[in-house]
Amino acid sequence: MMPCSNCSSKAAIVAEKAYCKNHFTAYFENKVLATIKKFSLIGSSDKIIVGSSGGKDSTALLYILSKYYKNVEALAIDEGIPGYRPITLEDLERFCSNNSIPLRIYSYKNEFGFSLSEVLKVRKDLSPCHICGILRRYLLNTKAKGFTRIATGHNMDDEAQSIMMNLSKAQLPLLSRLGPVTGNVTDTGFIPRIKPLYSCSEKEVATYAVIKNFGIRFMQCPYSHSSFRACIRDALNDYEAKHKGSKLNLINNFLKLLPRLKSKQLNLKLNHCSSCGEPCSKDVCKACTIVDSITAKPAAR
Ligand code: SF4
Repeated sequence: MMPCSNCSSKAAIVAEKAYCKNHFTAYFENKVLATIKKFSLIGSSDKIIVGSSGGKDSTALLYILSKYYKNVEALAIDEGIPGYRPITLEDLERFCSNNSIPLRIYSYKNEFGFSLSEVLKVRKDLSPCHICGILRRYLLNTKAKGFTRIATGHNMDDEAQSIMMNLSKAQLPLLSRLGPVTGNVTDTGFIPRIKPLYSCSEKEVATYAVIKNFGIRFMQCPYSHSSFRACIRDALNDYEAKHKGSKLNLINNFLKLLPRLKSKQLNLKLNHCSSCGEPCSKDVCKACTIVDSITAKPAAR
């Protein structure tokens, strides 16, 4: 049995060193707080809303932010994924109630008139993650008005995957929007998105969530296996197993390139959607385009 590097207790995880549960908790929380400080993610007057799903990442983030900061609330999106989202939302509601954290939930059904599962039954040509990503980001931004920061539970593994996904698809504009603070525009319609778990690996977040016993079930979205992200995740995990430190090196090198990527994208013209008024790069935003294509009546024959 490997002992903790700081005391004689049994080690629960080997991260930078071997840690028992208590010392790992302190190490993890300090790492998150150091990330917030290093990238200036939160100021003293900020009002923070945490994009929450009831999963391990956003729940760990919600717990830490509400422990160390004032003005923290949770916002969840119910896409309508049977067998998955109702369970994670039930866990989230219980967690927020137990920890006195205000929670707001918005559903695709109420906001757009359809659930994700209803769309996928009739539109076999659409990818669930494509629709989900665009509409979730849209609702997060529109429903977080009045807050000054949207905090998301993206961890180091998520970020490494996003970098590789956007590089593989030659999506430089999307690549420039990554980093610990998301978005490369100064439009007041965009609420800055921050990633306080940026420096924490998925394994560290999962260990923290287990140690803290948040009372959440570790569910996986039924659509996650077929996604491009899952493919990149498996490749990166394989790479990391053979070459330890690869993900961290990828992130650190990306952070060196990021200022140059952002400076190129800052010159791009920003519009406002002619349909909903939200900031976007074209005449109509991606969310309105998707919703219109889903709700449009078929042409008469
Ligand atoms: Fe949405 Fe895809 Fe994530 Fe499921 S795996 S919650 S469909 S983005």
